[in-house]
Amino acid sequence: DASVRAISSGQVITSLIDIVKELVENAVDAASTFITISLEYNGMDGITVKDNGRGIPVDDRRSMAKRYYTSKLESFEDLPSVRTYGFRGEALASIAAIAGEMSITTKTDADKVGTIYYFSREGEIISQKNVSPARGTTVTIKKIFTLFPVRRENARKQATKLPAQIKHLITTYAIVNPSIRFSSQVKGGSKLRDTVVAPTKQVTDTISQTLGKEISNSCLWVESKLSEDALSNDLRIEAFLPDPSKNVHLLNGKGYFIYIDNRPTTCLRGNLKIITKLVKQYILNSLGESTKLSDPFYYLNIVCLKGVYDPNLEPSKDAVLFRDFDTVVAKLEDLLASVY
Ligand code: ADP
Ligand code: MG
Repeated sequence: DASVRAISSGQVITSLIDIVKELVENAVDAASTFITISLEYNGMDGITVKDNGRGIPVDDRRSMAKRYYTSKLESFEDLPSVRTYGFRGEALASIAAIAGEMSITTKTDADKVGTIYYFSREGEIISQKNVSPARGTTVTIKKIFTLFPVRRENARKQATKLPAQIKHLITTYAIVNPSIRFSSQVKGGSKLRDTVVAPTKQVTDTISQTLGKEISNSCLWVESKLSEDALSNDLRIEAFLPDPSKNVHLLNGKGYFIYIDNRPTTCLRGNLKIITKLVKQYILNSLGESTKLSDPFYYLNIVCLKGVYDPNLEPSKDAVLFRDFDTVVAKLEDLLASVY
């Protein structure tokens, strides 16, 4: 029964932004250069995410919305080196389970025509027909949470926050995927809100575009290198940090963006809490007093070779477990000490 299935799911989808996040991650994983998000009536009436990525091969389509189906890991041994956002094969199944309607239109280069598939809550294909889209995939979800009155009521209450959440989500993924064009359209009441992030050549350009030139102008790009004899479990850190020679007060309250292998880490427990504390401490000890900086913007991406961490801690994939966290801290401190 569908509701039992949803209760027993490993990944529990509780809000509209969870759905958008998972669909955007799938679109990025498909090597898209265009990703468009549209929300009808603040998402309550429907969420559509369209991409121009590689599409879904015919052989994968029957399984794609089944629990634990993923095309992104060949075997369990690949997990330590996974570079895609997805690897658990849970999102589409979890989304189908909470939606009254889910359809996926897809076309690969190998297909003469595209096909739209309609799914049941169990993730089975109910019907399909030929359509003629360009290459890529479009996922549309409707009648969201209709079997879950509390989540639906909560989503309705949160609806006014959704445009800001979407904007933040797009900014978060655009920063580490600068070559992708992201756009969103949120229709709610009489208002229509658009966000567009044009592709750029590098992370700092996208930061400049999304957060403001004054932000990127007040920051400094630094990166640590892999060790000379790079072992398989080595890592490097790149960062865009408040520049001590600039007007850093502008960076106050602009938020910080921490990634591990381009994966946004929103789950600030354990190790990540230590990282945020360390970065803030270095910045504020050096600049806080003279500039009234208290909550500075910064960007940090910890880029790892295979085997440095286990990414499979949380269904939402936003926390990792490092094999040797002391090395991460040592590298980070070296980098921070070179600036402050
Ligand atoms: P995961 O991303 O962890 O593999 P999902 O449930 O999110 O699991 O997606 C299941 C599978 O469906 C993916 O592994 C992929 O093969 C396919 N898929 C989903 N969305 C897309 C997309 N936008 N483009 C191409 N393939 C997709
Ligand atoms: Mg996924």
